Formats: sequence, C-alpha cells, structure tokens
Amino acid sequence: MDFNTSLSHSAQCLKQAIPLLVKYKIPVTPINYAIWYCYVLGSNLALNIELDNILAEHGTCPASSARYLFDKYLSDKDLALFHQISDNFQGTLESVQIDIDSTLASSQSFNSVLLQCKSDLSALDKNDISSFDNVLSYVDKLTEESVVMQQTAFSFQKKLQAAYSEITELKQALVSTQEAAVTDQLTGLLNRGKFDDDIVVHINQFISSNPISKTLVFLDIDHFKQFNDDFGHQKGDDVLKVVANKLSRHCLNKANAYRYGGEEFCILADFKSVSEALNFCQAIRQDIEKLSVKGKRTGKAIRNITASFGIAFYKQKQSLEDFISCADKALYLAKAHGRNRVEIAPAI
Ligand code: GH3
Ligand code: MG
Ligand code: MG
Repeated sequence: MDFNTSLSHSAQCLKQAIPLLVKYKIPVTPINYAIWYCYVLGSNLALNIELDNILAEHGTCPASSARYLFDKYLSDKDLALFHQISDNFQGTLESVQIDIDSTLASSQSFNSVLLQCKSDLSALDKNDISSFDNVLSYVDKLTEESVVMQQTAFSFQKKLQAAYSEITELKQALVSTQEAAVTDQLTGLLNRGKFDDDIVVHINQFISSNPISKTLVFLDIDHFKQFNDDFGHQKGDDVLKVVANKLSRHCLNKANAYRYGGEEFCILADFKSVSEALNFCQAIRQDIEKLSVKGKRTGKAIRNITASFGIAFYKQKQSLEDFISCADKALYLAKAHGRNRVEIAPAI
C-alpha cells in the first residue's frame, strides 16, 4: 500500500473511511482502519470488489472476513498505517509548533529592529536638519519590517485555522464512531454490547462495606407481540422509541438505560436502599402506563402500553450469570403475577 500520501490526503481518506466504519458498525481497530483506508484510497481494486461482496452478503464486514481480507491483500507492515496516520497528526501539531517558532523568531527580529531604531533615534541631534531624513528612513524601515511581520502573523493565523478545523473534524468523526458503536439505532439507548461491557464494571465496583446496592433492572413490554399483530411493526417500533425516551428521562444522571434486545430493556444503577430502587422502577412503570394508542376517529385510548419489571441487587461473590438470571427471574415473576408490575428477585 502506498504510504507516501500527503497529510491532507491521508486525513481526507480517514474522513471518508470513518463514516463507512460507522455505517457498517465496524469497530475501529488497526486492521479495520488499514482495510478501509485502502478501500477509500482505491489502490487495490480486487480488495474493493471482495469487500463489496462481503458487505452485500452480511451487511457489515465481520471480524473473520476482515482478518481474511487483511491476510490476503495487506501485510503486517500495513498495520503501521494506523500509526502512520497518528504520526501524520503528530506531524500537523509539529508543523504548527514550527510555525509558532518561526513567528516568534520573526517577532523577535522585529523587536530588535524596533529597539535599534529607538536607540538610534534618541541619539539623533534634534537641531540638525539632516536628522529629519534619518527619521524618515527609520519610518520606512519600520514600515517594511511591520509589513513582513503582519504577513508572517497572517499566514500563521491561516495555518492555525486550517490545523484547527482539520483536527476538530477528525475528532468529531472519531467521537461519532465511538458513540455509534455503543448506541442502539432504533431507540438511541445504549446497546447490548455496551451493557455486556458495563455490567462487568458495575459488579466489579461492588464493595461489601458500602451500603449502595449495585442494581440491575430488566423490563419488558407486555403483550408486545399482540401489539405488533394488531397495529403493525412500524407502530411497534414507535412504541419502543417512546418507551426508550421515558427510560432515558428517568435515568438521566442517575442510571444507565440499555436496549437489551427486542422489546426488553435494562438499567444499571446504584441505589442506597431497596425502597429507593422500588420507587424508581414504579415511577417509570407508572409513566409507561400512561401511554396508549388512540383511535384515529374517536381519539380515545384503544390500547394501553404497560411493562413489567424485575429487580436484582448484586450479592457478594455472585457470578455475572447468576446476577442476570436473578433479574430475569424477577421479571418472570412480574409477568406471572399479572404484568404491569415490579418484582424483586427472591433471596437465594
Ligand atoms: P410478554 O408480555 O410475555 O412479554 O409478551 P410479548 O408478546 O411481549 O413477548 P414475546 O416474547 O412473545 O414477543 C415479543 C415481540 O416483540 C415479538 C417480536 O416480534 C417483537 N419485537 C422484537 N423486536 C422488535 C422490534 O425491533 N420492533 C418491533 N416492532 N417488534 C419487535
Ligand atoms: Mg414482552
Ligand atoms: Mg420479551
């Protein structure tokens, strides 16, 4: 692969590659970077065709296909591309630094010219008519120097602006990639992958002496299959979005809400007491309960939307699977006891 691209070109390719990684939900790893950079560069037609085929088949490029493409079309030294790109940005920063140095040097030389002029002027004999010519020549000299100084400052400012927008755009692209990787597309909540990562951190934060309970809540929309059957999948999707919106509002600054899958959601939170957790869930349940589908003609509620909740509090030395299964069992109890209710996992 050709590494000898200019900074602006490699930045350009990176800017094109990142939205593609986002679009196809591909994690930002050095191997993926290398493949997609090469794809955008268009330097290897066979790789592009094969990657297009993989995308057509899977809708994304699975890790195993990425490894296969990498082994077939790229070499280990191409991994250096990832570092090459960071080096390029390092290069941008260094070139800004060099510009700062040269601007400083030029302003220092301007200063010394000013100082020289000042001392020469004060040495002039004010009664000598030729002094006027000397003053004029100093004014000329200073004008020339200040024009140079202004030009240097102007070009420095332009370079700074360019570097600033370049870095800002790339930062934005990376932030969007990272956000997209952890976000559920339909509801905007955190996704299952993020939940799988976060719950490990959540239980690892458990401290037996701390009264704060590490809590997991599962909630599941009631009779959602029937809802889809009666009103259509599209309307079902709308309900998922509205419920998700309620969840995020209740969880704001207090807890993390995730779409676990389908019409199931979960929450990771810290509560100081069982009643605090119960009240929190009851408030969400009551808020969801207010939702309904209204008849087009009558405007009256023709179907209420409700959800059932299962709460589990982490216990010392409990395994992750057991913790999840406790919340699941509590949810099952809520369903079995009539739905639209909150249950706590029974003590084992
Ligand atoms: P229960 O009260 O016992 O939870 O009954 P349920 O009908 O909600 O549960 P079930 O597991 O039988 O059905 C879940 C339904 O959720 C089936 C599936 O079609 C629907 N579903 C899953 N994901 C989506 C989605 O993204 N959009 C829509 N509209 N429906 C979905
Ligand atoms: Mg359900
Ligand atoms: Mg379900």
